[in-house]
Amino acid sequence: MRVLDRLDELYAIGGGSRLAYTPEEDAAHELAAGWMREAGLEVSRDEAGNLFGRRGEARVWSGSHLDTVPDGGRFDGALGVVAAVEAAERLGDAQLAVVAFRAEESGPMGSRRLTEHPEAFLELHIEQGPTLERLGEPLAVVTGIVGQARGSVSFEGRAAHAGTTPMEERADALVEAAEFVLRVRNSARDGARATVGALEVEPGAANVVPARATASVDVRAPTAEQLDAVIEAIGFEPAWRQEPIAMTGAPLDALRAVLPGAPELVSGAGHDAMVLAAAGVPTAMLFVRSLNGGISHSPDELSAGEDVELAVDALTAALERLVRTVDE
Ligand SMILES: [Zn+2]
Repeated sequence: MRVLDRLDELYAIGGGSRLAYTPEEDAAHELAAGWMREAGLEVSRDEAGNLFGRRGEARVWSGSHLDTVPDGGRFDGALGVVAAVEAAERLGDAQLAVVAFRAEESGPMGSRRLTEHPEAFLELHIEQGPTLERLGEPLAVVTGIVGQARGSVSFEGRAAHAGTTPMEERADALVEAAEFVLRVRNSARDGARATVGALEVEPGAANVVPARATASVDVRAPTAEQLDAVIEAIGFEPAWRQEPIAMTGAPLDALRAVLPGAPELVSGAGHDAMVLAAAGVPTAMLFVRSLNGGISHSPDELSAGEDVELAVDALTAALERLVRTVDE
């Protein structure tokens, strides 16, 4: 299958390490530009170095990114570009553009530096998680990208001798923090996630009752209401917050029409699609099953050839519909 061969060709550049704005990412863009020309697309680049292959007015775009994390996998990003080229070639004279964004993994993201926007955007991406593998389903329609809040909470106690201070006379900051960690975990329901990933203990000595403990908090949820509810249940003041982004409009309708009954997921990771949606472009995403437990950002990243085939078929059918809808 040509899509898989092309993913191998990209992977051969830098052995899975194609960092943003390096000669490896440049080489991947050169390769993709050649495939775009072969597919009958007109190649151009913008100031950020984003690569476009256009046919006609091209008010509908599809694509992803060609950069990777260090020692990344074959599929993350690359699949979305290669599949869109394939779809564009199959669709013959449909007016659309394939886009390869720069620097998705490390920023400054090329998709944040666009000087023009399409009327609709569709991104095919691997799931990068275990849900589809567990469901036994090859593809999913993505309905949104989670919102996120981060902060930290400190607990004050009183430093004291671990041997001579009676248990009932202690003010142990870490014991309070430990109860808080459990509360954080129990506050995440209905697809929300809440994590304490870091704890700082002062003075941090084995023979001293802790005087101060600080816990980090990371909360993610599919809707703003859920995010608010989890933050309230935990009882902390976020220092940073990003609102959830909904996939909407004609792109979402097109995916649902070509994949009736497919599972619908909310992405726990950010993507170029998030940037376009936040800029007001009607946007949707199609996920293809990740194998090996959903591992990604690793050479073990894997999706099956037959799943990729189904994904390319679905992307092609959805783009065909979308181009028709946008032209109406
Ligand atoms: Zn990606």
